Amino acid sequence: MRAVDIIIKKRNGQELNKDEIDFFVEGFTDGSIPDYQASAWAMAVLLNGMTPQETTDLTMAMVNSGETLDLSPAVPLAVDKHSSGGVGDKTTLVVEPLVAACGLPVGKMSGRGLGFTGGTLDKMESIPGFNVNLTQDEFLSQLKRIGLVLAGQTAVLAPADGKFYALRDVSGTVDSIPLIASSIMSKKIAAGAQAIVLDVKIGLGAFMATQEEAKHLARFMVDIANLAGRKAVALISDMNQPLGIAVGNSLEVKEAIDTLQGKGPASFVEHCLDVAEQMLILGEAAVDGGEARNKAEGALKDGSAWGKFLELIKAQGGDVSYVEDPDKFPKAQFVEVVPSPVSGYLSQIHARAVGEASVDLGAGRAKKSDQIDHAVGIEILREVGDFLDKGDDLFIIHAASQADFDQAKERLLAAHKWSDSPVERLPLVYDIIR
Ligand code: URA
Repeated sequence: MRAVDIIIKKRNGQELNKDEIDFFVEGFTDGSIPDYQASAWAMAVLLNGMTPQETTDLTMAMVNSGETLDLSPAVPLAVDKHSSGGVGDKTTLVVEPLVAACGLPVGKMSGRGLGFTGGTLDKMESIPGFNVNLTQDEFLSQLKRIGLVLAGQTAVLAPADGKFYALRDVSGTVDSIPLIASSIMSKKIAAGAQAIVLDVKIGLGAFMATQEEAKHLARFMVDIANLAGRKAVALISDMNQPLGIAVGNSLEVKEAIDTLQGKGPASFVEHCLDVAEQMLILGEAAVDGGEARNKAEGALKDGSAWGKFLELIKAQGGDVSYVEDPDKFPKAQFVEVVPSPVSGYLSQIHARAVGEASVDLGAGRAKKSDQIDHAVGIEILREVGDFLDKGDDLFIIHAASQADFDQAKERLLAAHKWSDSPVERLPLVYDIIR
């Protein structure tokens, strides 16, 4: 078999068989297929698509490129969640302890920021000492001991995905449904959870722009999970405007802490409860939505979710004094409120523009080697549908320099749009794919 023939076959719009996909993924993982051939292949996939069978074969080839975790010696049933990526999406920080506090073990391998979207690992590393680099043994023993782990992907799990992703990022081949589906599902399957809740984001700040695309991606991922013997459900949720108020690492940790202490922004709390509900049902910790909702709300109200978060921070070496007293988090040098320049109803807060402004402030990376500034970011104080008078507080910028502040202010003002007539609020969830 030759890599070039496989590329040509896909370029000509033909379906690849399992042997060809295995050959290509194995060759790329062990370095015998070079980056330029893998890029050409990825572009052919992006342009011509893949059938569900090809996408499943690709996912399993990437799973088999490394080791797989078996969680069953640690817990009878573990649940995982994965967001397809968004702006201000700190949902994991809240729903993980929330669901674990309801008695359902959660073992999650998270990622770092990607483009304009934030990453859970970067957020958690705002907490001094918090260690995301756990070995498989540490992962399993913590899962068994406290029923909750939040770690980074180890190099041995789905290494083909790590290599492909880096290549896609720089070859214009990220936004492909089969490539995204296989990337996410290979990681989830390799990490061992038996039940997976997928949070597929759509809108201006997501990789999927339309409901049709998002549903298609969700259907692919749920089917792949089922074929791999895992249970899965996908929420299709809004990412036109940022989720919650905070965008930026320690700011998002603080918002997660507020939420776990019952003081979170209403729409973010609601989104967390929606995700937790699906996790509890899928993980058989509740028989239906009503019971799941009651349990999740109860764990937020009685402080047990917050207690579980503290346990997680301690277990992974984080300095608990920071989460108990978030004023201890380092602050950016320039923190200033920007008022609304006009009166009217907010009709748009462009999530992608907000994400890009946050990355440029230093909350994300332009290159892989860049250091994150955990203190910088943005607080988006309003939501689409709100009415504002001119001069009302609109957003807060946390910047490291005056020049960064000025640049972010201009971009963020351009990200907001107003209307003279009332504007409907955006839904949180559009659909659920089972
Ligand atoms: N998240 C992933 O893990 N992979 C993708 O391809 C896109 C989002």
